[in-house]
Amino acid sequence: MIAEARPRIVYLDHSATTCVHPSVVEAMVPYFSVEYGNPSSVHTLGQHARQALEQSHRTVAEILNCAPREVVFTGSGTESDNLALRGVALARRRDGRHIVTTPIEHHAITHSLEQLVQTLGLEVTEVPVDANGLVQPEAIAAALRPDTILVSVMYANNEVGTIQPLTEIGALVHERGIIFHTDAVQAGGYLSLDVQALQVDLLSLSGHKFHAPKGVGVLYIRRGTPYVSTITGGGQEDGRRSGTENIPGIVGLVTALRQAQSERDAKNERLRALRDHLIGGVLERVPGSQLTGHPERRLPGHASFTIDGVEADALLLALDLEGIAASSGSACASGAAEPSHVLKAMGLPRARAMGALRLSLGDDNQPEDIERALEVLPKVVERLRAFTYV
Ligand code: PLP
Repeated sequence: MIAEARPRIVYLDHSATTCVHPSVVEAMVPYFSVEYGNPSSVHTLGQHARQALEQSHRTVAEILNCAPREVVFTGSGTESDNLALRGVALARRRDGRHIVTTPIEHHAITHSLEQLVQTLGLEVTEVPVDANGLVQPEAIAAALRPDTILVSVMYANNEVGTIQPLTEIGALVHERGIIFHTDAVQAGGYLSLDVQALQVDLLSLSGHKFHAPKGVGVLYIRRGTPYVSTITGGGQEDGRRSGTENIPGIVGLVTALRQAQSERDAKNERLRALRDHLIGGVLERVPGSQLTGHPERRLPGHASFTIDGVEADALLLALDLEGIAASSGSACASGAAEPSHVLKAMGLPRARAMGALRLSLGDDNQPEDIERALEVLPKVVERLRAFTYV
């Protein structure tokens, strides 16, 4: 489909995905049509692709403070999460059958764990989070058992933006010699990814959350971590993820990650100012609105709310008609609107959770976008409430 000219959209859904930056596109282009070799081929074109791949491993390794061979390129954040959980569960199946996690993980984690419970008979403990979506490191430690083989806790939550205390959790988990994975998909563009400081053994990233294309991800696997690949074939990525490497995507991911991480502090400061203005404005101008997630420990561009007396889907459609792209917390997979598992785990009553609104900011947002949202949102909410029968 060819993109049509359209009025400017105020895009406030950067947690869902981001545009690919022009500089990222530019870095990728030669790898489609000029340097299109297969990195496994011995000829010159293949070797050029191999060099780009190796350089990409080195750049990600510098950002993650690890060795280049500990970096595995994958097909998405979902794939990284799946590979991590299944890979460790299979490799350690004789050591134990217990995994510890939280109830607010992305479905790439929760559904993979459900499958491991059903197929391998694993047991999963979900350590509760508090009303801000924060898990206590001591509560994770208390859930560990002699047969615990893996702990998986996300870095930052996609629905409410809460940032977990990974370093503290990692220290407690490692004291017991247990492997620690984090889904860092939402954190990739904004937070430090130093795996030594974070004390993680496996870490998942996804390019499209930080201005790289969709369909490319990273899985960091610390050297010595028990891991069995569940994607087998040509043995690419040192046998940890087979499949011909997506060189344009990988080059795009690396270019975008380097940009995001090198300008992190300045970008975060700008985003925080916009976000705080947005949060303050919504709470002041929309009666019956509440912030969800942690008031301070949250992603710099992430604002999430519940709005009493409105249905999330109706609100999103009404905002869309006004040119504002936003999102809710509730996934609606079965067709029947269900409140989000995240908000439920944070103890929100169903009625409140049904009015979830997520406004996630990014590089391309300007102060006028926030003003526009603050002008439109109260009117839309008032209009929807007028139509709602109680
Ligand atoms: N994990 C988290 C926390 C996410 O927010 C997402 C995407 O929304 C994923 C995993 C999945 O990443 P991908 O879209 O690359 O499969």
